[in-house]
Amino acid sequence: MIKGILDLLYPEKPKCCICGSQGAKIVCDRCMASLNYLQGITCLHCGKQLNENYHDSTCPDCKTGAFHYERAYSCFEYGGIGKELIHKLKFEGKVHLAKVIAGLMKEALRNEDLEISCIVPVPIHRNRLKIRGFNQSYNIAQELGERLRKPVLDCLERTKETKEQYNLDKMQRYLNINDAFSVKSLYNISKYENILLVDDIYTTGSTVNECSKVLKKAGAKYVYVITAATGSNT
Ligand SMILES: [Zn+2]
Ligand SMILES: [Zn+2]
Repeated sequence: MIKGILDLLYPEKPKCCICGSQGAKIVCDRCMASLNYLQGITCLHCGKQLNENYHDSTCPDCKTGAFHYERAYSCFEYGGIGKELIHKLKFEGKVHLAKVIAGLMKEALRNEDLEISCIVPVPIHRNRLKIRGFNQSYNIAQELGERLRKPVLDCLERTKETKEQYNLDKMQRYLNINDAFSVKSLYNISKYENILLVDDIYTTGSTVNECSKVLKKAGAKYVYVITAATGSNT
């Protein structure tokens, strides 16, 4: 009780969610500047950064794969501060970070001139939702919806309880995620021509690809993808 009174009298000063330095911003300028933003040449399909010596518009992965979405965009590379940012949102429940990520996503899409009818978050399985208490992609989608003034449709569900993808190879990822999603029967997807699918990390693209597959089957014409970070396949 004493602690409660003290907290009321001396509320904790706002701090950067990443480094803990005092300041009013959710993430301080220094941490924001330390993110490895995607810049220069990025793959025209998956949005991953390409080596400056690579002379093609799409990366080797996108040349060989079959994809159900039109194009993916991302904000920064998964590593360093970027990895911390996602971990703190996802595993430490710092949900305000969804605002920061949505702000970066809006920025990443600024010059793309995409026609978007609605925003759809990649879902997590209900058992994981029970444990975590929230779906980070849903939180990001809500924040992005506000910024882009587009409706958010929580229309997908994860019907298969999948393993975390990060320590699986490409084939294992595919098998893990194959047929893991469906569209909730409540939703009439054919009403929405262009869908913007939202997730936290793009690695091989197998998760967003599966979601795009079911969205298209349900009537979506075009699916675009935006993720906070891109990770490497290895
Ligand atoms: Zn900081
Ligand atoms: Zn690519």
